[in-house]
Amino acid sequence: MRILVVEDEKKVASFIKKGLQEEMYSVDVAHDGATGLNMATSEEYDAVVLDVMLPEKDGFTFLREFRGMGHNTPVMILTARGAMEDRVMGLDLGADDYLPKPFHFEELAARVRSLLRRTSQEKATTLKCGDVSLDTISHVAHRDGQTIDLTSKEYALLEYLMRNKGRVLSRSLITQHVWAYSFDTESNIIDVYIKKLRKKIMDLEDPRLIRSVRGVGYVMQEPEPEQNEE
Ligand code: CA
Repeated sequence: MRILVVEDEKKVASFIKKGLQEEMYSVDVAHDGATGLNMATSEEYDAVVLDVMLPEKDGFTFLREFRGMGHNTPVMILTARGAMEDRVMGLDLGADDYLPKPFHFEELAARVRSLLRRTSQEKATTLKCGDVSLDTISHVAHRDGQTIDLTSKEYALLEYLMRNKGRVLSRSLITQHVWAYSFDTESNIIDVYIKKLRKKIMDLEDPRLIRSVRGVGYVMQEPEPEQNEE
C-alpha cells in the first residue's frame, strides 16, 4: 500500500513517514499543498494524510480540487485540536476521517489501517499466485503453508507484483510504487530486490512465478499447468 503525506512541518512529516514505513507502507511526502495535489493526481496512492494548514494550497482547497477532479482516494485530514469547524468542513469537502494535532503515532496508524480496510472492502485482502499467498491486512506472506519473513521493501514489492498479476511492470513503475517518488531508476536495486525476493519465496526453479521481461521489467504469473500424460 502506498501513502502520500502532505505536511509542511518537516519534523512532523518525517516522523509520520518513518512510522508508516515501519508499518510496511511505502510513503511519499509533499511539503506544500500544490506539490501534494500534483503528486496525488499524477500518481496512484491508496490513501492521503493531509494537513490543513499548508503553504501554496491549504488542505481544504486541496480536498475541494482533488474531489472535484473525481479522485476518490481516501483522505485523512490533520486538524488543530478543538477546531470543530475544521473537522466539519473537512468532512463536508470529502475527507474520510480526521485526526486532531498533536496525536500519538499509534492513533494515526490505527486510523490509516481502518481507512484502508474500509475503502478496500472490494479489494481482495488475500492475494494469491501459485502457492504463494499474501495477507494485505496483516502483511504476512506464505508459500506452501510456510510463513515467509519479509522486510518492508520486499513486502511492498511482492504486494505490488501480486496485485498486478499477469501484468508486465516496468522498472520505473516498480520504482514509483515501491521506492521513493524521485528515486534513481538507473540503479539496479530492483534487480537486487527481485533476487532476494525469489530466494525468500523459494522461486528459484523454472517455471518461475516472478519472471523477468528483457529490457522492460518483471511480471508475476500463475505457473503454467503441468503436462499430463494420460
Ligand atoms: Ca501545517
